[in-house]
Amino acid sequence: LSSTGKLDVSSALGKGYLNVIKDLGLKEPYIGYVDLVSGEIAEDIAYYFASSEQIPSAVSLGIFVSPEGKILSSGGFIVQLMPDTDERIISFLEKKMQEIPPISSMLYDGKSPEDILQNIFEGMEGMELKITEKSPCQYKCSCSRARMERNIISLGIKEIQNMIDEQEGAEAQCHFCNTKYWFDIEELERLKNEAVAKEAVAKNE
Ligand SMILES: [Zn+2]
Repeated sequence: LSSTGKLDVSSALGKGYLNVIKDLGLKEPYIGYVDLVSGEIAEDIAYYFASSEQIPSAVSLGIFVSPEGKILSSGGFIVQLMPDTDERIISFLEKKMQEIPPISSMLYDGKSPEDILQNIFEGMEGMELKITEKSPCQYKCSCSRARMERNIISLGIKEIQNMIDEQEGAEAQCHFCNTKYWFDIEELERLKNEAVAKEAVAKNE
């Protein structure tokens, strides 16, 4: 624990960098990173938004831990300014961020995401909170066997042949969720044929 009674994440983490990977459904994921400035994850994410994406953001993350070390609640929010936001709204939000209770205790008190938003924007003159969209939030990886197959094909014929000759198969592990996918020789032969076909097409182009 730090001197303020919070979990001391920064000493546990030490120096490092924050890697942000966004899968926007394009061919390649968007990857950005910044050095860790504070070691407090929320502050570093806010720094990332400001320096890499030029979006002023308020980020708050919290986790409520019992004296026995059990996690009782956890969650967070990100508030981002649209371009050309009125100065009054900016200063209103800056002030509000200092005033609202810690996110960990709001969650522990059973507040819903809507309650928390209401809390943040309450009292903003001439403005009303409007919820335009909701989407479920979950820890889920978009990897799949088909995606792993494409990765293996992209390694090329020689590399796949090596896997067949030397390892009698190949294990591919997802970088994000650590799920392991096993490909036996028969499958690798099939992927090698696809790689052969792909290289033939590439040559003809
Ligand atoms: Zn995965």
